[in-house]
Amino acid sequence: MYDYVIVGAGLFGAVFAREMTDAGYKCLVIDKRPHIGGNVYTEKVEGIDVHKYGAHIFHTSDKGIWDYVNRFATFNHYINKPKVNYKGKVYSFPINLMTLYQVYGVTTPQEAEKKLQEVRVTIANPANLEEWILSQVGLELYELFIKGYTMKQWQKHPKELPAFIIKRLPIRLNFEENYFEDIYQGIPKEGYTFLIGNLLKGIEVRLNTDYFSDKEHFNELAKTLVYTGKIDEFFGYRFGELEYRSLRFETKLLEGNYQGNAVFNYTDSEVPYTRVLEHKHFNFGRQKHTVVTWEYPDTYTRDKIPYYPVNDEKNNAMYRKYEQLARSCPGVLFGGRLAEYKYYDMHQIVGSALAKVKAIKAQKV
Ligand code: FAD
Repeated sequence: MYDYVIVGAGLFGAVFAREMTDAGYKCLVIDKRPHIGGNVYTEKVEGIDVHKYGAHIFHTSDKGIWDYVNRFATFNHYINKPKVNYKGKVYSFPINLMTLYQVYGVTTPQEAEKKLQEVRVTIANPANLEEWILSQVGLELYELFIKGYTMKQWQKHPKELPAFIIKRLPIRLNFEENYFEDIYQGIPKEGYTFLIGNLLKGIEVRLNTDYFSDKEHFNELAKTLVYTGKIDEFFGYRFGELEYRSLRFETKLLEGNYQGNAVFNYTDSEVPYTRVLEHKHFNFGRQKHTVVTWEYPDTYTRDKIPYYPVNDEKNNAMYRKYEQLARSCPGVLFGGRLAEYKYYDMHQIVGSALAKVKAIKAQKV
């Protein structure tokens, strides 16, 4: 008998299991995949950590969360500075003074601001993503960086998408190319699988084990179930199926230095992939060989991995019904990106698992 059966050996499940084990509770972690780590999993290929489910860079401004993850792995000093390739030309990204120099030839913040004022389209109340971007940077930058990429990623025209999807994208009047603005940033030197392995040290883990293959059995094994899988699946899709976008990866082992940077975004709609990753650059690798991954957006079906929730009004309304049901589900705790139908960065997942643990401990006192 266990105190907690935790469905999912991803970041949420691993942090929760570690904290509860350290507090004296007996935990069992199960995962249907053949490995731990969920989407942060990295696999060693010829000494290179390959980010199997897309580029993962840890970033946070919360010292507590940074100190927490550093207890389980040493982080390198990688700073994410992706580049854009549009029709064979390379641009600095996110949009900054270097980008504006490359596109318009402006060299100072004053010149750049003047140019932006000229090219911005006046739209009083931008109603969708296209209008919002046009009102911020005008037609040329929209077509160079946003339009094709967004159409590939979401399989929808930017006119059909809400502005909030991209409001996170910084537009800078300085030469700063660091994609993230957080105080702390890096990647575990030994890969994320090493970090998750340390979190799960001494805890029973069963891989290739789908909760739904025998859910009555797993429910009986513990007083409390912690569920980090898809919430609609947990409730038998009774209110319908929540939509996701998926991804498909093609990976090759090559010689040398393929693109000179860890991440390149391909923003032209004619190119079918959205990103090319060269994994050794995530860890300053100087190996003779290199591992390169092409990332293609893909339609989600149940046999694929759900990557990005489609948080439009229809899906959010459906999620709220599931959330309501989850609130009155005794003995089950829901957590993580799939159970909450929300895009979470890793630091937010760590924060939410630690907060859940804190709340449980407070109740038990
Ligand atoms: P998951 O990692 O999905 O873990 C859930 C686990 O539950 C999975 O292992 C799954 O197999 C298992 N499971 C589900 N159903 C069952 C079942 N029925 N039975 C048994 N097991 C089950 N964040 C950053 O901070 N920086 C980044 O650079 C970054 N890049 C990203 C890039 C991409 C392409 C994506 C999609 C996400 C990125 N993220 C990034 C976000 C990061 O991946 C998530 O924050 C994190 O993986 C969420 O952890 P989780 O435990 O909630 O979910």
